[in-house]
Parts: sequence; C-alpha cells; structure tokens
Amino acid sequence: MHEMSIAINVVDIITKQAQAENAKKINEVDLEIGVLAGVMVESLQFCFEAACKDTMAEDAKMTIIDVPGKGKCLDCNKTFSIDTYLAPCPNCQSFSVDIIQGREMKIRSINID
Ligand SMILES: [Zn+2]
Repeated sequence: MHEMSIAINVVDIITKQAQAENAKKINEVDLEIGVLAGVMVESLQFCFEAACKDTMAEDAKMTIIDVPGKGKCLDCNKTFSIDTYLAPCPNCQSFSVDIIQGREMKIRSINID
C-alpha cells in the first residue's frame, strides 16, 4: 500500500530528527503534499496513526498542507495552475507542459518536546 510506505518513511525521518535533537516526544508534524502526488490524504492520515504506534511519534498530530499544481508550457512559456497531468496550456492549447509544482511531498516542520 502506497500510503503505508509513505507513512512509515515519514515516521522514520521525524523520529531520527527528534532523536538527533534529544527530544522525548513528537507532538506534531506538518507535511506538504502536492495535489498531483497521487496521495490519498485520508488514507495517509490513517496509516500515519498506525505507523506512529510504539514510537516517540505516538499520538502525534499530522497536518497536511496541499500544494497546488503548476505547469509551464514548453511552447509559449506561460505558467498556469493545473490539477491533472493531462492539462493543455490554456494559452496555446499545447500539451507540451512541464509540471513545475504539485508532485512534491515533504516535511515542512515538526514540533517536538
Ligand atoms: Zn502554451
């Protein structure tokens, strides 16, 4: 399951970081997820809770921040917002679109004690 492996990864990263800072507990984590990343947010929340069990992140709250999709037309250089991979350029209708934002997934911040 895709979301489960992401959740395990996130827990792994944040617990390592918290340990490096001699923290005892992770209270909160903010994740940025692009709308084109193909992640089911509800499923990820559920998996995150499961992945946190018996770690220092147990009961940590995860906040997901949606990052909107943005594309750049390779023909006319216009940038525009997109919410699917198959969006044509609204300016010249070209499908030569480079996705410049919306596929990322990163940890923005963590709150530790
Ligand atoms: Zn264009």
